[in-house]
Amino acid sequence: MKDYYEILGVNRNASDEEIKKAYRRLALKYHPDRNPGDPAAEERFKEIAEAYAVLSDPQKRAEYDRYGSVGSGDFEFSGPFGDFFEDIFSSFFGGGRRRRSRGKRGADLRYDLKITFEEAVFGTRKSLVFKRKKVCDRCGGTGVEPGYSKERCPVCGGRGEVYYTRGFFTISQTCPRCHGTGYIITHPCEKCHGKGYVMDEIKIDVDIPAGVDNGARLRVAGEGEPGENGGPPGDLYVFISVEEHPFFKREGDDLICRVPVSFPQAALGDIIEIPTPYGVEKVKIPPGTQSATVFKIRGRGVKNLSTGRTGDLLVEIYIEVPKKLNEEQKELLREFERLTGSKHKEREKFWERIRSLFARN
Ligand SMILES: [Zn+2]
Ligand SMILES: [Zn+2]
Repeated sequence: MKDYYEILGVNRNASDEEIKKAYRRLALKYHPDRNPGDPAAEERFKEIAEAYAVLSDPQKRAEYDRYGSVGSGDFEFSGPFGDFFEDIFSSFFGGGRRRRSRGKRGADLRYDLKITFEEAVFGTRKSLVFKRKKVCDRCGGTGVEPGYSKERCPVCGGRGEVYYTRGFFTISQTCPRCHGTGYIITHPCEKCHGKGYVMDEIKIDVDIPAGVDNGARLRVAGEGEPGENGGPPGDLYVFISVEEHPFFKREGDDLICRVPVSFPQAALGDIIEIPTPYGVEKVKIPPGTQSATVFKIRGRGVKNLSTGRTGDLLVEIYIEVPKKLNEEQKELLREFERLTGSKHKEREKFWERIRSLFARN
């Protein structure tokens, strides 16, 4: 049976921090990248990784302490280049730029799209034109001029990393010559200048669904940058911003519209015409309608993207007070006030309440 504590060179009551430190020191020393072609070092590295995987997990460590082993199947060794190690190494080296042999997914792209209020309500189809990387057809994405080949980097020997020793520390750095790729291109492709890709103008049509709101983000799968080494392409994200409408304000699925009526209209009642995104509708204003009264027109709001239900149009009435009056109008209003002065119930109640409030003190 393996003694995981002995493998890491720590005693049985070592703290998590001590275990972590010991692991990092040993893993760096025996890492296969630093001991190419040394099977003993690789074996040692696997042991160290296995010991750390058990001792760094409190539950597994407790089980190991008690039984001297950890249930099989519970721990699976994924090989020295699994994500587990990559995570540890990238966090230790301060960057996740380790060489990968497998294909890399292409980057996601962002497209900012401004649409009108009506387009947001009814949906629309938009042509998006943008620049995107395209694998260079001259070199097939290698960046190497046809007839030549890549050469192993003479500085790092193909590892992509260089090591410096400073006292007790070994510092790893991305190779400055090859920028971590491990190879150099002596004859870059004439078309892409060694980049492996060219910029291509793309035009794609995108359906904007009815009901989309300001700040919405639409994902168009597979329309991002192409992948590398056979990896899948990234996605295109369309960020929607909706222009403000002069009449309608959106609140969730509802629309709000403020509509002015005259004092006689509000007092006597009337039928008024209300604009909706779907056309003009008639709304009955009952006699005695107060300012800030809200009438709801069902189903004249915006369609909800997930439920498919359409919100309402909320019509908020406000009473327009005339600003310019001629003498005849003024006289009529004074006459009106004389006739109704004490009959304004709300006003009477208001002043009664004020008076009783002050009378008490
Ligand atoms: Zn090329
Ligand atoms: Zn290099």
